[in-house]
Amino acid sequence: MENKAPNRLMSMATMKCPNCHKGSMYKNKSILPLNEFMVMPEHCEVCGLKFEIETGFWFGTGYVSYALSVGTIFVLAVIFALTYGFTWRNNSIFIFIGVMISALVLLQPWIMRFSRVLYIYVFVKYKSSAFK
Ligand SMILES: [Zn+2]
Repeated sequence: MENKAPNRLMSMATMKCPNCHKGSMYKNKSILPLNEFMVMPEHCEVCGLKFEIETGFWFGTGYVSYALSVGTIFVLAVIFALTYGFTWRNNSIFIFIGVMISALVLLQPWIMRFSRVLYIYVFVKYKSSAFK
């Protein structure tokens, strides 16, 4: 038997159940097919944790995905400023807006999935029995 708690960050990155760190939180490992990228099993296949802890539990993930989107924009702005640079003489701000919008649209499925993972990890600790 393994007594050591699994690496929390690794389990979050691989989108595992916050209670057992073994069961997958999403039906599909990738975002494809796109019409099913948010489909989650009702309960964890390993420990039986109910993922939607209460009705409307996922409502709060809107704030998490907003924060992730703002963080993405900030990182993109730093990368853009270091590689291309912002000046008033050319249209670099408009190019950046185009890059930012494209990146946010393309990254949205991962942002939405990961915001649910971050949100449930706040409430459910490893091997807790509070939400069984
Ligand atoms: Zn589990």
